[in-house]
Amino acid sequence: MNTIDIDSPIITKNRIEYNYRINGNWKKLFKEEKFFVEYNYNIDNVPESIAIIPLICNILPISWLCDAKINIKDCDKNFFESIPEFKEGYVQMYPNLEFKGSIEASKLTKNKMKNPKGALAFFSGGVDAFNTLLNHIEEKPTMFTVWGADIKIKDEIGWKNVENHIKEVGNEFKLSYIIAKSNLRECFYENKLCELVKDSKDTWWHGFQHGIGLICLAAPITHIKEIKTIYFASSYTEKEKGKFTLASDITIDPYLRISDTNVVHDGYEFNRQDKVHNIVEYSRKNNKKVKLRVCWQENAGKNCCNCEKCWRTMLGLFAENADPKDYGFNYTSKQLKRIKNSDGFEHVEIWYEPIQKALKKNVKYEDLPNEIKWFYKIDINKLGHHPIYSNLKKIIRKVKRLIKRIQNEQQ
Ligand SMILES: [Zn+2]
Repeated sequence: MNTIDIDSPIITKNRIEYNYRINGNWKKLFKEEKFFVEYNYNIDNVPESIAIIPLICNILPISWLCDAKINIKDCDKNFFESIPEFKEGYVQMYPNLEFKGSIEASKLTKNKMKNPKGALAFFSGGVDAFNTLLNHIEEKPTMFTVWGADIKIKDEIGWKNVENHIKEVGNEFKLSYIIAKSNLRECFYENKLCELVKDSKDTWWHGFQHGIGLICLAAPITHIKEIKTIYFASSYTEKEKGKFTLASDITIDPYLRISDTNVVHDGYEFNRQDKVHNIVEYSRKNNKKVKLRVCWQENAGKNCCNCEKCWRTMLGLFAENADPKDYGFNYTSKQLKRIKNSDGFEHVEIWYEPIQKALKKNVKYEDLPNEIKWFYKIDINKLGHHPIYSNLKKIIRKVKRLIKRIQNEQQ
């Protein structure tokens, strides 16, 4: 039987470490190094029942899929009771997978905040996160960023860039920020976890871990600071409901409760282009600088201007009559030209159709930079389909057939 017995977390100043013993076949998914989380904030008086949550949320989906039992000593009652509710989101999202497993706590503690108020907003620096931050700016949310999500914990240079970016945003908008450093990805064998869920056609981090896994890292902070609401930015909208799998979802995040803190899957009413519009509009009206960080390529935490995510955002900004250079994209003319010949466009009707629509509404064709004028007129369904590439592929297929025929004739 698959089990994990978790000791009381070891809390020292700003760090929580976890000791546990794993039994059963699922042990192969865990590395030797133990889970930890560390903050730029003192959390040493956080109760055990809250301190356990960061680890729990990162192993729950594994335990469900491996039919494993989690044994813990003390757990926040509200959180514990919310587990079946957010688990149901996973069950509905992945009908071809079985979500079993169980969790048992020797003790459930009802944590009560004296006066919960204010907000914490997860902040990666991308379009979704910035839209959430600016839409709730009146609440003066504490920004919360995780080192160990898209930037590896050994990547000090990449992280320095990210942290400088957060500091800049904090200064510009007069907001405080919290950083959580955790090996939440690196203490598991992610390739084996991907193998475990291969029938879902999604990856472990994207489809199973990153929503609740990240949100729960904030539990010690929201508890100590008595924060009422956690905002976690949505990627999709109502229109796309059920079309994609993603660990952070309207059917999962809002069902999570930690003590007296609730979670909002924020910005669900806006598509990505609406969000770009909101950001540009806020920046103009309030004369505030917005430097986006959207790129997930390994580029030391900066926008590479060479990947799909960068192009999508740059085109989105052009469509709002803004120069991406003012929003953190230090592109060259050569890079802008390259977009046209790429075949890496994804989900064209969801991401690119609204961009083209906004472009036609907001910008005159002649005002566009020459390098991207083509995007104004292109049939959006043909985006990424290049006659040269298609012809090349046809030629390759022909040559392969020819080689095969020659080989057959020689035999
Ligand atoms: Zn990029």
